Amino acid sequence: MTRNSQIIVVGAGVSGLATAYALVRQGCRVLVLEQAPRVGGCIRSERTPEGYLIEHGPNSLLNLNPEVARLCRELGLDSDRVDQQPASRRRYLVKGRTLVPVPSRAYQFPLTPLWSPWGKLRALAEPLIPSAPPGGDESVAAFVRRRLGTEMLDYAVEPFVAGLFAGDPEHLSMASSFPQLVALERTYGSIVGGLIRSRWGRRSRAPIRVFSFRGGVGQLPDALSRCLGDRVQTGARVNAIRHESRNGTPRFTVEAEVRGVVQTFAADRLVVATPADVAARLLQTLSPLLADQLEQIPYAPVGLVHLGMARSACTRLPNGSGCLVPKRERLPLLGSLWSSNVYPERAPEGRVLLTNYVGGVRDSDALKWSDDELVALVVDALRPLVGLTGRPEFVRVLRHPRAIPQYLLGHADRVARLDHLLKPLAGLSLAGNYLQGVSVRDCLTQGMLLAGRIANGLPNGEAGRKSSGSGGHPVESAAQYSPHYSS
Ligand SMILES: Cc1cc2nc3c(=O)[nH]c(=O)nc-3n(C[C@H](O)[C@H](O)[C@H](O)COP(=O)(O)OP(=O)(O)OC[C@H]3O[C@@H](n4cnc5c(N)ncnc54)[C@H](O)[C@@H]3O)c2cc1C
Repeated sequence: MTRNSQIIVVGAGVSGLATAYALVRQGCRVLVLEQAPRVGGCIRSERTPEGYLIEHGPNSLLNLNPEVARLCRELGLDSDRVDQQPASRRRYLVKGRTLVPVPSRAYQFPLTPLWSPWGKLRALAEPLIPSAPPGGDESVAAFVRRRLGTEMLDYAVEPFVAGLFAGDPEHLSMASSFPQLVALERTYGSIVGGLIRSRWGRRSRAPIRVFSFRGGVGQLPDALSRCLGDRVQTGARVNAIRHESRNGTPRFTVEAEVRGVVQTFAADRLVVATPADVAARLLQTLSPLLADQLEQIPYAPVGLVHLGMARSACTRLPNGSGCLVPKRERLPLLGSLWSSNVYPERAPEGRVLLTNYVGGVRDSDALKWSDDELVALVVDALRPLVGLTGRPEFVRVLRHPRAIPQYLLGHADRVARLDHLLKPLAGLSLAGNYLQGVSVRDCLTQGMLLAGRIANGLPNGEAGRKSSGSGGHPVESAAQYSPHYSS
């Protein structure tokens, strides 16, 4: 590939935008085709006429990746960065229909009512539990039961996984969802001991900062798009992709409907940065086997119910960042993020904004409820928790039927198969949150790594790009990203 080669990126979510941005920085010719009238994919921040700043997707990022910090600096976003209010750092779990603070210091552990004395002893015995034999994939639930016991699964990891992936730990692959924890067990024989002894443990002592931007997370894709300028074409829905190889040189023809008019674009390299099902459809004729693998990646639905009200209408709202709801509590809620506690400017003076999450794999029919029904369910669930009185004065319901890709048992094998199937399709790459990390930070890092590979003319098969980047630090990702609980 020469610097003059034309690269087309399909999809202007953060994965596609980060890839395109890094390619341009390396002197490549890039065109991004995005079907929507705006960039950002599931990221969108909106200031409502009532004065609330609501997020349609992610609420926060973490400061864990130097590449992401550098990117924000390059994009001129540092001056707009807003950090989580320090007073809101406390997190809660729901137990017995009340909010229980999650212990954040070792001395709080023996006192918390979240786990029984037996449950706590079982968790403390973690360093004594023998490691699993290498090989094979284990579910998150099986791993946690084996190492920490059932109580930690039910009242720590299960709600956390529901918050992070909107998923079910019984079905998610431990190795793909939390590979760093698996590596700690393999290397040190214990996660607790490993966290203390490993380099990761030392690194993680740096303060973790949850942050967003004055105008919300949406400022990030907007800034990327501004830098890319007219290299981004919105309102361009790609409908078909053809691939041929002339004298060993790959050539792609991309057919897109641009504001009602069908246009074709030629490219030497192509990055498909759409959700997996769209990639499957677009690549069906190029490789039915590849399409079949992509189609099999399931997504969990998530609904957001934003509620705004006078602060006085929430008589018992603690000054924390939010709560997660264990499945055993049988509430129609995955979690609640108290957005205006985390970032006060998200609600007008004297008002609060609560962002509530419903659905997930746990309750996959939730999105079928009407807006009024969802609001009523959420309000009822919140009443005993935060002392909600009366009706909220602002409500907004948002639905993501395919919100979060699920890294099921066997996911790593699937990503390896995708790599293998990409090999004969010279010049084609995949990018997106369904590969190696769902957080915005993972998508940015993976996109930038992919760009490096393309710019350096490295061969195909980048679906399973392994790196020392964030994809390799899911423990940090987990801390970073939760659709319901981003701190
Ligand atoms: C509700 C929710 C809350 C979240 N909260 C957090 C959080 O707090 N912190 C965090 O780090 N992460 C969070 N995430 C995860 C993170 O936001 C996503 O994983 C990430 O933004 C996905 O980016 P992407 O570019 O891979 O995919 P997408 O955002 O899905 O982008 C794909 C793009 O492809 C475009 N496209 C599709 N088909 C075509 C076509 N035929 N032609 C052209 N373009 C096409 C789409 O329009 C879209 O713009 C959250 C996600 C959701 C849904």
